[in-house]
Amino acid sequence: MKRLGKNLGGYFGETIDIRAVIGSIKSAARQHGWESEMFYLIGDLELLAFHRSPTTSAKAKRIYISAGIHGDEPAGPLAALQLLQENRWPSSAEVWLLPCLNPAGFILNSRENDGRFDLNRDYRHLETAEVTAHVRWLERQPKFDTTFCLHEDWESHGFYLYELNPDKRPSPARQMLEAASKVCPIDLSPVIEGRDAAEGLIHPQVDPESRPQWPEAFWLLQHKTRQSYTLEAPSDFALSTRVSALVAAVNAALEFFGENRAE
Ligand SMILES: [Zn+2]
Repeated sequence: MKRLGKNLGGYFGETIDIRAVIGSIKSAARQHGWESEMFYLIGDLELLAFHRSPTTSAKAKRIYISAGIHGDEPAGPLAALQLLQENRWPSSAEVWLLPCLNPAGFILNSRENDGRFDLNRDYRHLETAEVTAHVRWLERQPKFDTTFCLHEDWESHGFYLYELNPDKRPSPARQMLEAASKVCPIDLSPVIEGRDAAEGLIHPQVDPESRPQWPEAFWLLQHKTRQSYTLEAPSDFALSTRVSALVAAVNAALEFFGENRAE
């Protein structure tokens, strides 16, 4: 599989009609019985949270999935849509799904929102309306067993993963990478985005004071979870490939946690 070579200095791949994608997400969620909550509105663009209750009485795993915080990363919202449409959730999974945290960015095909803020750097100081509304919503939720943030990287050579797992809980990371590797290459660089990587897996520093700006995953680790995954699909491959890689990795993790219910 070859890289497309389109992304020179930024993302120049396919774009999506975010209003249409959000519309499809709403109808798939409705069809499969998810509860829906709009927690912020920018013009006619809705920030939405969906919730699925577990269907068995077995101890539920609380799973949080978010996407679309960077408006030039269309694979995340499309992966959220595909996961909803496929509806393959383990019966014991309680799931919160936020399919698009930066709809205004998608209108502009820009990483930032329409005020040129990178929302995924705003979780320490809460300067943007979107992140403030998101954090207020998060504060009303229970703790999550695991969180997944779906992203793309226009510079990467393949799929990779950030893991925050300070208590060294059983980790689905290798299974996620294995599943993604069946769809697209894994980025095997020893250093990715300035951090040491091992076969596509990065373990960032978790000291909050070492980070002047917090990404979403970091806020989640401080307040809502002890196990967090940020998935990065390589933007220089076809959009359908990136979507498939994100979906495959999330499904591998869901399967892992489904089998490890007794934890
Ligand atoms: Zn991103």
